[in-house]
Amino acid sequence: MAASDAVRHDWSATELEQLFELPFNDLLFQAQQVHRRHFDANAVQVSTLLSIKTGACPEDCKYCPQSAHYRTDVDKERLLAVKKVLAEAEAAKAAGASRFCMGAAWRNPKDRDMPYLVEMIQGVKQLGLETCMTLGMLTPLQAKSLQQAGLDYYNHNLDTSPEFYGEIITTRTYQDRLATLQHVRDAGMKVCAGGIVGMGESRHDRASLISQLAQLPQHPESVPINMLVKVKGTPFAELEDLDPFEFVRTIAVARIALPTSFVRLSAGRESMPDTMQALCFMAGANSIFYGERLLTTANPGTDSDQALFQRLGIKPLQHTDYADEVHQSVIADAIQEQRQPTLYYPAK
Ligand code: SF4
Repeated sequence: MAASDAVRHDWSATELEQLFELPFNDLLFQAQQVHRRHFDANAVQVSTLLSIKTGACPEDCKYCPQSAHYRTDVDKERLLAVKKVLAEAEAAKAAGASRFCMGAAWRNPKDRDMPYLVEMIQGVKQLGLETCMTLGMLTPLQAKSLQQAGLDYYNHNLDTSPEFYGEIITTRTYQDRLATLQHVRDAGMKVCAGGIVGMGESRHDRASLISQLAQLPQHPESVPINMLVKVKGTPFAELEDLDPFEFVRTIAVARIALPTSFVRLSAGRESMPDTMQALCFMAGANSIFYGERLLTTANPGTDSDQALFQRLGIKPLQHTDYADEVHQSVIADAIQEQRQPTLYYPAK
């Protein structure tokens, strides 16, 4: 393996900041080179997301419309019935989806919730789908129960740099987040962890967030990079927009520092013009969520996603562990033919 192909775990924030400072074209060129060494540059992994419990969250994340600390228009919902979740998963599978992500607005799951979560995972697995959940903090025991039920991925974001973290949330610590990621790894699950930009953080903070992710003993398999969605009623509703090129730079730096991770273009995609999304793919983003809603905020319409993929010659990819020609061709057909809107059902 060439030295440049090595996966490094010692990226410092300062070193990554120097990458941010490169001329835009040089940075993108470097990111493209890294991307092409590890991935098909014209393939993008797609997932679908369902909110299984919405709103009334006791945490105070300043960007989040689901926090009970802020008055937003989000309708609260209790944990969905297992039957309803499985019906949604079945519809997703029938339409060709390969990974089913379930999100709950909790500080952490309660022990009384665990049997339902286990049932959901087992049911979704039985459908032959890859499973992912995001439920807040986990104890080692909870992580093990979820893994034993068949959970493939657990999402838990670091959100921002350790330095800026106190400006975003006060009800849990950075260390709490790192501990949950460790429990997820120790239990043998794959990790999905990233952050949000455009929250008023500095370039140093963006570099520092990526450095934290890169310094984990094992890089997350999936790294969502979210652009803040400014929701009325949250403390961040009136923040200034981040320069779109700075967002693209963040994707490129994440690609270079986390060369084998799927870098996901996540929340905020709805407000990005096609040209900017294309730049993000060029910078090394190779995963997106399909669907008209992302938990509680809008996501691009299904038709525009399909059209963009076609215009850019991008094909949808499944996670390599699950790659299977038949399944892959079902997804490809669904996208090519634009034949049924249910592939992109809204998360509720
Ligand atoms: S981001 Fe998650 S933990 Fe924070 S308030 Fe929203 S739902 Fe709760």
